[in-house]
Amino acid sequence: MTLKAKRYTVTAALPYTNGPIHIGHLAGVYIPADIYVRYLRAQNKDVAFICGSDEHGVAISIRAKKEGVTPKDIIDKYDTMIKTSFQQLGISFDNYSRTSAPIHHETAGDFFKQMHQEGKFIEQTTEQLYDEEAQQYLADRFVTGTCPKCDQPEAYGDQCENCGSSLNATDLIQPKSTLSGSIPALKATKHWFLPLDQYEDFIKEWILEGHKNDWKSNVYGQVKSWVDDGLKPRAVTRDLDWGIPVPVEGAEGKVLYVWFDAPIGYISSTKEWAAREGKDWEPYWKDKETELVHFIGKDNIVFHCIIFPAILKAGKEYILPENVPANEFLNLEGDKISTSKNWAVWLHEYLDEFPGQEDVLRYVLTANAPETKDNDFTWKDFQTRNNSELVAIIGNFVNRAVVLTHKYYEGNVPDCGEILAQDQAVLDELKLFPKRVGGSIEKYRFREASQEMLNLTRLGNKYLADEEPWKRIKDAPERVPTIMHIALQIATALSSICEPFLPHSAEKLRTILNIDRPLSWQVIEEESSLLPVGHTIGKQQLLFEKIEDTTIEAQLTKLKQTKVANEKETKSLPPQKRLITFEDFIKLDLRVGTIIAAKKVKKTKKLLQLQVDLGEEVRTIVSGIAESFNPEEVVGKKVTVLTNLAPRKIRGVESQGMLLMSEDAEGNIVMVSPDQGAKNGFPIA
Ligand SMILES: [Zn+2]
Repeated sequence: MTLKAKRYTVTAALPYTNGPIHIGHLAGVYIPADIYVRYLRAQNKDVAFICGSDEHGVAISIRAKKEGVTPKDIIDKYDTMIKTSFQQLGISFDNYSRTSAPIHHETAGDFFKQMHQEGKFIEQTTEQLYDEEAQQYLADRFVTGTCPKCDQPEAYGDQCENCGSSLNATDLIQPKSTLSGSIPALKATKHWFLPLDQYEDFIKEWILEGHKNDWKSNVYGQVKSWVDDGLKPRAVTRDLDWGIPVPVEGAEGKVLYVWFDAPIGYISSTKEWAAREGKDWEPYWKDKETELVHFIGKDNIVFHCIIFPAILKAGKEYILPENVPANEFLNLEGDKISTSKNWAVWLHEYLDEFPGQEDVLRYVLTANAPETKDNDFTWKDFQTRNNSELVAIIGNFVNRAVVLTHKYYEGNVPDCGEILAQDQAVLDELKLFPKRVGGSIEKYRFREASQEMLNLTRLGNKYLADEEPWKRIKDAPERVPTIMHIALQIATALSSICEPFLPHSAEKLRTILNIDRPLSWQVIEEESSLLPVGHTIGKQQLLFEKIEDTTIEAQLTKLKQTKVANEKETKSLPPQKRLITFEDFIKLDLRVGTIIAAKKVKKTKKLLQLQVDLGEEVRTIVSGIAESFNPEEVVGKKVTVLTNLAPRKIRGVESQGMLLMSEDAEGNIVMVSPDQGAKNGFPIA
């Protein structure tokens, strides 16, 4: 093993307490972090696994206003929910704190004060968006508008979710207050900026040169593109009433920007843990022999690789992260996971609906983790991995080893007879697994590690299948004790090696084998007798259960209902487009027409070919309405025609204009028809 550090501080991104945890969070951050930490503990390393709720920021205020409650009501609700569901899944934090805790307010405030005293900020009065009606400055999620980079109409004041650009509220085109819906004005206000440009050389040297080879390419690439674009000063304060008050004079009514205080939450949480455990927190953040690792999702790379390190650097004595193994995104059944659209598998719901199957979710999200690219979670894959990997490989192996030991030896580990070459080969290979699995974990390749864990079980299955103790008991009974002895050694090794991935099953397996704690991985590497001769194993029980089709269908139905509900909502309320001028509008030549003939376009489902009388002329127009109208029912209808749309060929037919339609929530198409009195060819304006 190559774990060299004296101690490890491992952080997992602080969940934002405006909603519950979903599988995307788990696959991206919490499960890999937990595997890593459980592995470190299995190597007897000194580890602090740190997390907590992120409870400041504009989204929480907005949610509170919407629900007519206080921000505290919101954070209390989700903090409890998130904490409980993590515990049930077996995410083994040493400490789970909250950024609303006094210890955090003090720690973050002190950071700011010290940096302020040392002149690490730039004070600047700038014009910010202000909502006169709500009497509030608008930053971050309090304002939406059109993204200046991609034209998407619903970008936020801090970020465009469409193109991923990081924005300032004042960059938005046609900004609109999410509080009152009004158009904000500009108003001067003072803020403190962290001059990131002054840290450019430091980031270049530390990451771009120093971690060229050991950081994941997605993380490295994102940092590089930020640095290449040129780092700019970034405001670390906000005009808000929810957050940590800025602890300097002249800053009344201002709070720390949530992305300034949240990462400091790792330090506050470590302090809280150390105080409880009677330890000193400082070595975990300041000793050079400590390795700091941040597990985060890819949307947080800039904060953990540029902004927080700049803060740590300014704090002088602090260590920097040794690695930031951010994952890509997990999609769900082909679509982007979305909290606002309820397109997710929620952890608390999963735990309710799949009691006792926490490890199945852990395993599937690991085996299919979005480590190098975005990946897709499907319920079908979930079922397959459970039934043909957990049940058929791990469950089957353990079951055979245990059942046969009970059957032949009343549950006692038999002594080995003569060790043949094939036995020795299996025992030798067994010793390689701690390094194989551990080597992958140390490289943050958790998918690979989980498959090696499975390979260890495959070794056992293959050995039993080759040696067939159920046959040898009749034709060569002297072989059977050796075979069963070795099979039980593999099962015992498995109970330790699978622990980081499948902690609940590992515990169950230890009960089955009647061992009270996991073996160290080093013992597995070095010793042949992991379960001593004569040891009595416990009762057989199933490690994993088959998941039936009906269970999967129920989940798919649930998602389908979500989709239908979303379609209704989004179709009834599409975002409004950007303003156009009157000159833009009068470019459209809209006229009254009447459909005088209609037929289906051959070999298409959706298209009708129409002849439309426009007074002086009859035009051919191809329209995608065949799923809503039969050709015969449209003949004679008055329609609105956009006549100066450049002609284009659709399935070989030239369409010379376009009919105006409206599509309702179910996808039904309705024609925008002028009154019967309107005459063909006359303009509409
Ligand atoms: Zn954009």
